[in-house]
Amino acid sequence: MDRYFWHLSKAQEEGQACVLCGANYRRMKIPSVEVGKVPETEAPVYACAEPCAERIAAEAESMAREMREAAAEMGAGWDTSASDQGELGEDGHFGSMLRDLRALVGTESLLAVTDDIDSLRFLLSITARHAEAAMIRARLLLARTMSGDG
Ligand SMILES: [Zn+2]
Repeated sequence: MDRYFWHLSKAQEEGQACVLCGANYRRMKIPSVEVGKVPETEAPVYACAEPCAERIAAEAESMAREMREAAAEMGAGWDTSASDQGELGEDGHFGSMLRDLRALVGTESLLAVTDDIDSLRFLLSITARHAEAAMIRARLLLARTMSGDG
């Protein structure tokens, strides 16, 4: 498992507690599975086989799906943009990046007034998604400007 987990408690880093719900495996007999590593030490970390590991797997799957979709979207834009290289129009990556940034601005204003935990989680997932997409697109655009006229 190559996924890293950050901001863990001591027990979680030592593989003694679930990285998701924090259940302590020394105190509770819960079947657990390895779900990733501690970034600094590469020590394995665990989550309850049910339901935490399943949730982590589902999250990873949807993340992977989004990444593939974003890559496919960009791959297509990359191919068709060969003719208008150097032109940063509202179409393609640039337009998509602007939409991501606008979504982030909208999310920011909602985050400022939300204190309901479920809404907060939803907004944070939207933020992560658009921020990541914007980052990927910005880097592609940057790469394009560098490989362009130079
Ligand atoms: Zn758990």
